[in-house]
Amino acid sequence: MLVVMQAHASQEQVRAVCKKIESLGYRAHSIPGAQRTAIGVTGNRGEVEPGTLEEMPGVQEVIRVSKPYKLVSRDVKEENTVISFPQTAATFGGPGLAIIAGPCAIESREQAFAVAELVQHSGAQFFRGGAYKPRTSPYSFQGLGEEGLQIMAEVRERFGLKIVTEAIDNESLELVEQYADVIQIGARNMQNFSLLKRAGRAKKPVMVKRGMSATLEEFLMAAEYIMSEGNYSVILCERGVRTFADHTRNTLDLSIVPAVQRLSHLPIVVDPSHGTGKRNKVTPLSRAAIAVGADGLIVEVHPDPDRALSDGLQSLYPEQFDTLMAQIRQIAPVVNRIVPAIGSSRTPLQVGGASSKVQPAAD
Ligand code: PEP
Ligand code: MN
Repeated sequence: MLVVMQAHASQEQVRAVCKKIESLGYRAHSIPGAQRTAIGVTGNRGEVEPGTLEEMPGVQEVIRVSKPYKLVSRDVKEENTVISFPQTAATFGGPGLAIIAGPCAIESREQAFAVAELVQHSGAQFFRGGAYKPRTSPYSFQGLGEEGLQIMAEVRERFGLKIVTEAIDNESLELVEQYADVIQIGARNMQNFSLLKRAGRAKKPVMVKRGMSATLEEFLMAAEYIMSEGNYSVILCERGVRTFADHTRNTLDLSIVPAVQRLSHLPIVVDPSHGTGKRNKVTPLSRAAIAVGADGLIVEVHPDPDRALSDGLQSLYPEQFDTLMAQIRQIAPVVNRIVPAIGSSRTPLQVGGASSKVQPAAD
């Protein structure tokens, strides 16, 4: 159910409607848009009787939402959600592309600093690195845990890069929330509903990766879980799905980018590293992702991929990442995007376009 307020409805009227919804035992999600505020009504007690709300002052109409996803939908918010970070030009969903780069896993301070310096120089605004690694084998490197998070906090301090890192369970999420700028939920956890709900109570933006065999609807429902708990700063990430193809590790489904953008206001980025699993395919698929309209990229880069403790085969050499960035800078204007200038992750810059005032993105 969606309550659409009149364009000139006052804050007080919006508050009164939210109060009424809550008094009926539902949750009210007030989502301000460019034209008017919409209030999403969620809860698992069945449908609300629309008559009660329709008559309230400031209400334009009450719409039954037939799709299973509600808060992620453009029905609730027509314009794109832009997630921004204080003191920086880095955004998700704005005109500037979000470029996230770094190693699969944080292996040591030396390794993290070496990659961070190079990717920052090439133009990344976000640094990725796993401290908690969901590995197929229990005998593979599982990550440095909190020490890895501390190293990334130092990377942010030193290079001004924002930190994106994965939480694999409720326990690690507690820590990741303290250290990271963006909490990553991995493909294997896309349907870990208790983890999604916990991420929905976090005060940081959440990037949720598409499950290995998730449909578009299941993908959007994962984001809906997070939003239903009150965290509206959600980023989707396409990272490839399982198919019969064996020339790549996964099949990167770039068609999901326009499909998501048609249905949802949330930003979507592409991970061509896990999406292909092969270094030689990362650059071409990154170019394609930007051309198809993705809001950014998350790319694995390692100073010495042959010795990487995880995902070396799909990690770019730093020089390859630099070349990729130069190509992205050329493609971006064709699709009306920009690559924020190098070093701009430290420089406040006013970017245009619609902005999500739904919830402060960080801190
Ligand atoms: C990762 O980003 O390091 C990762 C484990 O990705 P995914 O969850 O997409 O496999
Ligand atoms: Mn990886």
